[in-house]
Amino acid sequence: MSRLEELPLRPELRGRTPYGAPQLPAKYRLNTNENPHPLPPELLADLGEALRHAALELNRYPDRDALDLRRDLAAYLTRTSGEPVDAAQVWAANGSNEILQQVLQTFGGAGRRALGFTPSYSMHPIISAGTGTTWVDGHRRADFTIDPDAAAAQVWEVAPDVVFVTSPNNPTGTAVALDTVAALYEATAGVVVVDEAYAEFARTGTASALTLLPGRPRLVVSRTMSKAFGMAGLRLGYLAADPAVVDALQLVRLPYHLSSLTQAAARTALAHTDALLATVDAVRAERDRIVAALPGMGLTSVPSDANFVLVGRFADARAAWQALLDRDVLVRDVGIPGWLRVTAGTAEETDAFLTALGEVAPDHR
Ligand code: PMP
Repeated sequence: MSRLEELPLRPELRGRTPYGAPQLPAKYRLNTNENPHPLPPELLADLGEALRHAALELNRYPDRDALDLRRDLAAYLTRTSGEPVDAAQVWAANGSNEILQQVLQTFGGAGRRALGFTPSYSMHPIISAGTGTTWVDGHRRADFTIDPDAAAAQVWEVAPDVVFVTSPNNPTGTAVALDTVAALYEATAGVVVVDEAYAEFARTGTASALTLLPGRPRLVVSRTMSKAFGMAGLRLGYLAADPAVVDALQLVRLPYHLSSLTQAAARTALAHTDALLATVDAVRAERDRIVAALPGMGLTSVPSDANFVLVGRFADARAAWQALLDRDVLVRDVGIPGWLRVTAGTAEETDAFLTALGEVAPDHR
């Protein structure tokens, strides 16, 4: 086998490593922000039936426009945000990563720039590189919040074609104020993507950027069924935007990108929305339990609207990560000195994490 460097690789991919959390064996895997709750049995039964039915037509290509699914997603967004969203405003793909890739293929690309406020979701710069889009790091305050004036000034100066705002932000957890999103929108002629993968976990009083859509044709709100819906294995992400944005994405999407099995499974899951989202409150309670326990251990956290908590400060985050793993608890070292990210899940997982952290903290803070 030849080495990677010997291949005629695109220059912007040279020296890069593939994205991915370490998939290490551990009893408590709290490193990828999944929902650990099992799917409701009624949903599993309906999935079996829906997939069997869809399988009868597997000799045919799926609905290329995924219209029924987009209608269901629009109804879900309308119901949960109070903002009327129409199927023509919704687009779906294999995970929100593919949604983001399609957005960059459409509005980024060679000779164009994307800007996002780091630390944030590390796939944003990676998908940018993959689509030939130049990445620019936006600045945050020391407490990881975005200063709206400074951010708008930077966006104005850089003039990016795509601006990413992750809200709630991964890996820090805090949602971004809608005023900040609106200010960034005003500061750019490009597309503003609000990545709301964790929106359902937000603390009360945190509004979705969906409410900003009217009158903002360059605003895109992306969502996923991987987190709150607990269906990371399904690979279903979606966006809401002006119908013209959805039309534009048709220029780059692969024909029949969303299999008929995926469409059928996603629609079945959406029919069980209430049962699936019943776990969200429980996960939030575990998140808040983690947050509340930290000061007693001489640790702190960043305010979280998500299903994870950024915990600090450790003298050496890597050493603390290893010490937790030695106790069978796998969390995520996101590369921010002094901090580790832990996913909030079941009460049992919280107990295991807090017990391990209680042992680790005295030697590592
Ligand atoms: N956006 C953010 C902020 C995320 O954290 C993730 C998953 N970790 C995604 C998007 C992608 O999720 P998916 O492709 O599973 O929808």
